[in-house]
Amino acid sequence: MEKIDVVIVGGGLAGLSCAYALANKDLQVIVVERGDFPGSKNVTGGRLYLLPIKKMTGDMLDGAPFERKVVRERWSLLGDENSFTIDFTSTVLREKNHSYTILRSSFDRWLSEKLIEKGIFVIPKYRVDDVLWENDSIVGIKAGEEKIYANVVVAADGVLSFIGEKAQLKPAMVPQNYAVGIKEIIELPESTINERFNVGSSEGCAHLFIGDVTKGMFGGGFLYTNKSSVSIGIAIGIKALMDRAPLIEAHNLIDSFKERYEIKKLIEGGVISEYSAHLIPEGGFEGLSKLFGNGILIIGDAAGFALNMGITVRGMEFAIASGIIAAETILKAKEMNDFSQNIMSLYEKRLKETFVLKDLYAFRKIRTFLENEDLFSYYPRSFPELIEKIMWFGEGKKRKIGSTLWETMRSTGMLSFKRLKNLYKIKDI
Ligand SMILES: Cc1cc2nc3c(=O)[nH]c(=O)nc-3n(C[C@H](O)[C@H](O)[C@H](O)COP(=O)(O)OP(=O)(O)OC[C@H]3O[C@@H](n4cnc5c(N)ncnc54)[C@H](O)[C@@H]3O)c2cc1C
Repeated sequence: MEKIDVVIVGGGLAGLSCAYALANKDLQVIVVERGDFPGSKNVTGGRLYLLPIKKMTGDMLDGAPFERKVVRERWSLLGDENSFTIDFTSTVLREKNHSYTILRSSFDRWLSEKLIEKGIFVIPKYRVDDVLWENDSIVGIKAGEEKIYANVVVAADGVLSFIGEKAQLKPAMVPQNYAVGIKEIIELPESTINERFNVGSSEGCAHLFIGDVTKGMFGGGFLYTNKSSVSIGIAIGIKALMDRAPLIEAHNLIDSFKERYEIKKLIEGGVISEYSAHLIPEGGFEGLSKLFGNGILIIGDAAGFALNMGITVRGMEFAIASGIIAAETILKAKEMNDFSQNIMSLYEKRLKETFVLKDLYAFRKIRTFLENEDLFSYYPRSFPELIEKIMWFGEGKKRKIGSTLWETMRSTGMLSFKRLKNLYKIKDI
């Protein structure tokens, strides 16, 4: 029985980053990916924050096909027939390499080609069906009749991680730990994007929406500018969708989102070039899987490493960082010639020293905070209403701004005990 060093299941950002950190280290590494090519099955919003991973990625992202540098942040509260938007930009966003929009089909493919140049085998169209056990250790994977034996199997197979489940690492699936994301890529000329979003060439905008976009359900909408396209979509909690009466088809929401006045003009004349749907881990710290076992590590979405912070969604830098840290652990295991969970546990220890587990732990209460339905219905309706009243000049005498403010806050219940309690809960996040 021939045994290689490492088999990585899944050629997404987590798996490819792990392989990259193992390249040129005298190890036999294979990445297997069920899609036609890495990137073909991967979906993101997508914005990648670079600073958290800057030190650990080394030269991995040199020459990466970033779309646009995010220099403009927007958040909109969508009422039924009005909206209120915060638009933020700053010198620091424009001058630092803080975050970039990316398209996974080109980004992951580019990274896999870089890996191949470094002598790593990346095998597409290869779907793993099972893991191979020897006593209580994982010793390889199985795809149809084919078996690959390896000292370490890395489960990088994304949110539903079949490998994590087979290796008994994943917790039972519960609807509140997942959201469904639906996304379209709409092609537009580069100059049109620059004008419509008030950005320079290669500068971009990240725009998040809550409220009417999900008809008040847990979740939100997003719009990211790419070089010559925009990525537009929605993400909704599975539980919120299931509990909704009457039921609503998730794909209908994106259509009505695009029909909104605030969006229609931004995408006018654009042509849809891609449509995709994908799950997103939403369990946060409490939803994580067990991270290691004898002969196995689990990384990226497969482990549940994603963080919905309300103001932004982060998953990609967690995927990259966990992949690289898994590689460090594997190198240590190889050095000690010990692939048992004693050494594999170093992976979790190291993750705890980095932003991956530090941030997930620090924001462990955010999911409960975000479960408050007021965030998705009451506030997105009330704030635009307040602004509308202040900005309205009718036939009669204009009321004082202060008394309009006070009266609306009182009549809409903003000053009620329940809402003040909501405000107090902000201290937890
Ligand atoms: C709509 C949406 C918006 C998002 N927005 C953002 C954002 O703006 N910023 C951000 O940082 N994150 C965002 N995320 C989260 C982010 O995309 C993920 O956290 C990230 O893609 C995880 O990467 P990964 O490599 O772990 O998993 P994936 O990219 O899912 O890769 C897993 C790979 O494993 C392969 N695979 C699965 N099963 C098998 C098998 N049995 N055999 C072989 N291969 C297999 C799959 O084909 C896939 O290529 C978003 C996610 C979605 C869905």
